[in-house]
Amino acid sequence: MIEFELAPEELQAVKEAHEQAEKVVRPIARYYDEHEHESPDALIKQLWDESRQGRGMGLGMGVGAALRIEEACWGDAGLMLTNPGSGLGGAAILTSGTNEQRMKFLARFNEGEPKWGAMAMTEPGCGSDTSAIQTTAVRDGNEWVLNGEKIFVTGGQRAATVPGGLIVVWATVDKSAGRAGMKPFVVEQGTKGMRMEKVEKKLGIRASDTATIVFEDCRIPYENILGSPEVRDTTRGDTAGFRRAMATFDATRPIIAAMALGVGRAALDFVKEELEKQGIKLRYGTPKTKLTAIERDVMDMESAYKAAKMLMLRAVWMMGQFQANSLEASMAKAKAGLAVTRITQKAVELMGPLGYSRKWLLEKWMRDGKINDIFEGTGQINMLVVARRILGFSSRELK
Ligand SMILES: Cc1cc2nc3c(=O)[nH]c(=O)nc-3n(C[C@H](O)[C@H](O)[C@H](O)COP(=O)(O)OP(=O)(O)OC[C@H]3O[C@@H](n4cnc5c(N)ncnc54)[C@H](O)[C@@H]3O)c2cc1C
Repeated sequence: MIEFELAPEELQAVKEAHEQAEKVVRPIARYYDEHEHESPDALIKQLWDESRQGRGMGLGMGVGAALRIEEACWGDAGLMLTNPGSGLGGAAILTSGTNEQRMKFLARFNEGEPKWGAMAMTEPGCGSDTSAIQTTAVRDGNEWVLNGEKIFVTGGQRAATVPGGLIVVWATVDKSAGRAGMKPFVVEQGTKGMRMEKVEKKLGIRASDTATIVFEDCRIPYENILGSPEVRDTTRGDTAGFRRAMATFDATRPIIAAMALGVGRAALDFVKEELEKQGIKLRYGTPKTKLTAIERDVMDMESAYKAAKMLMLRAVWMMGQFQANSLEASMAKAKAGLAVTRITQKAVELMGPLGYSRKWLLEKWMRDGKINDIFEGTGQINMLVVARRILGFSSRELK
């Protein structure tokens, strides 16, 4: 049976996350949107201290963690992404690493100064089709030598430059093997041959750093490969490398859905408050044909939000129960990306010129929300995953 109910202490943590989003994060959201590459140091310190006391966002694996992330993004999605911690790199280590590797690479995120992890898959010639990666990893004695370029790495600047950081880099150990040759490698901050090339200027989530990282004869210890180095891993089938990438996405896509919902709800709450101030009441239960256009629009926005939320909760709950959730993770991600795009766009439209102006955060949420329909698999790619899973087609049969 699916169970979304939270224990009292988890409910309290979600409440605290909302209060922090409202009182600490919202007031600085516009500033860091307009000062794109400035670092919110005070917030980072506060979030780091909280995570060390066990009260932070973390990556989390259950309903409570996802709801806290939704609240944080209700405050500001870009600032939420500056949260110190192992990030998507941590997700890859959790899903693909051994217990020893988890200890070695993740324990540091509970001690010392703030540090960041990141995950680098995308390349100039490879995005949706992750099996097309060109970055290579060649074994040389007790080391791997990495060469290639990774782009649009979330948190990449901090992970590559702040001491203690790490990046999980996907590279191929055998190009001729296609997907089976893909492997994740941990590259620690300060490793010779890894260079942070540039930080992107973006449409939205501007507080979050998005970097290009170059690897030139970058030597890492042999044991920094996550999972088996065998291209044909007989224990898990011949696409084990690619399967690890997908397992990582199964863990991260529901979290991206939660992020999307936070931004969508921010816009929805704002619109409802403004309408209330203008004396416009939403007459729930009234037949659709008798509603005003604005009532129908807001109710449509609310139903999109709620449908996406149910899908997100199911995917995240399954993850917490260690159940296979590929289909549900992609459903949640696709629906939430679509919902946040539509909700925020409609919110700007409903509020007229003020919705478009910088007086309010609505236009910012419209810019911020769109990323959820792009990273961790675009909306189209997640729909494709859903179609394949439901119809029983392989990726070769349905492209
Ligand atoms: C702000 C930001 C942060 C990011 N962070 C990270 C990160 O931390 N790590 C990382 O590795 N990557 C990251 N990315 C990259 C992101 O995951 C990719 O941009 C995304 O996967 C899409 O790949 P692409 O840009 O190459 O687009 P393409 O694959 O070229 O796709 C272009 C368009 O074609 C569509 N399309 C492609 N194939 C199909 C198909 N078979 N059927 C239907 N439509 C299709 C896509 O949906 C999209 O609309 C980030 C991107 C951004 C913008």
